[in-house]
Amino acid sequence: MFKISLKKKINQIIGSKKTREEMFEELEELLILSDISADRVERILNKVKKRIKLIFDRDEFFQVLKEELLLIFTGTGGPDGDKHQSGMHFPDTKNAILIVGINGSGKTTTAAKLAYRYRQQGLKVLLSAADTFRAAGSSQLVMWGEKLDIPVVGGDRGADPGSVVYNSMNSLMNRDYDLLIVDTAGRVQTRETLMMELEKLTRIIKKFSPAQPAETLLVVDATMGQNTLDQARRFKAFSGISGIILAKADGTAKGGTIINILDELNIPVKFAGFGESEADLTEFSEKDFIDSLLGE
Ligand code: GDP
Repeated sequence: MFKISLKKKINQIIGSKKTREEMFEELEELLILSDISADRVERILNKVKKRIKLIFDRDEFFQVLKEELLLIFTGTGGPDGDKHQSGMHFPDTKNAILIVGINGSGKTTTAAKLAYRYRQQGLKVLLSAADTFRAAGSSQLVMWGEKLDIPVVGGDRGADPGSVVYNSMNSLMNRDYDLLIVDTAGRVQTRETLMMELEKLTRIIKKFSPAQPAETLLVVDATMGQNTLDQARRFKAFSGISGIILAKADGTAKGGTIINILDELNIPVKFAGFGESEADLTEFSEKDFIDSLLGE
């Protein structure tokens, strides 16, 4: 899944006959060059230093580093909760998924990928274009719907997203559908308006079933810089977020940004997107990710 490995470079550092202090300095540099933020690298390596004996061997080092990296995920329920994390929680026979995130993160594409995935699994899927702020927001999803032959409940530009969601839930409940996937707007000026918007949509969905939405998924661009990450953090304030989808994971040459995102947002990652077509979505396993980062 991920084609990033630091193993060779770490081996070179550990294999060199340098002092322990020099080795740790080089390791620090390597991890920072892999785009893990400097304070995070310091935190991780300080813990590794404490656990590693004066003269350490390779296997022990990799084991300890792996454990410390995996600890980043404990706040998300992993790494032991791996299965639980990647799995989706569908409490009812008819379920709704709310897709949220900033514009450009890959929301609409991800909504289409999920629709395709669950349709492949035999569910009757309905898409909902509640991104009525942008002219392109709704039409893009409609185009996906045509391509995948999946119906889309649309909203004209400027229409009330609440009414689009209401109509969509109505169709889900009263027609022959199993799953509704709602693409929401990413354009929000303040955290307050964002919260109000998400809470309103959630409230409308809950009127149909208190166990819904089954999942509220935050789409995060895996190639994002700190600024975009700050914006994504706004969404974290909305307590309803049940998972992350890491879009554009194919665009990250280095694994560091993914570690930053996981550590920063501390929400389980359910899927990763690896391209622009409908099939480019994979279940995400934090353990597999770390294994590939430190593996061959
Ligand atoms: P939205 O504004 O959040 O709805 O974002 P879009 O779904 O329109 O995606 C923005 C751009 O990112 C589009 O050009 C997509 O084709 C592209 N994109 C989305 N997901 C992925 C992905 O997993 N990999 C790659 N390479 N591109 C993606």
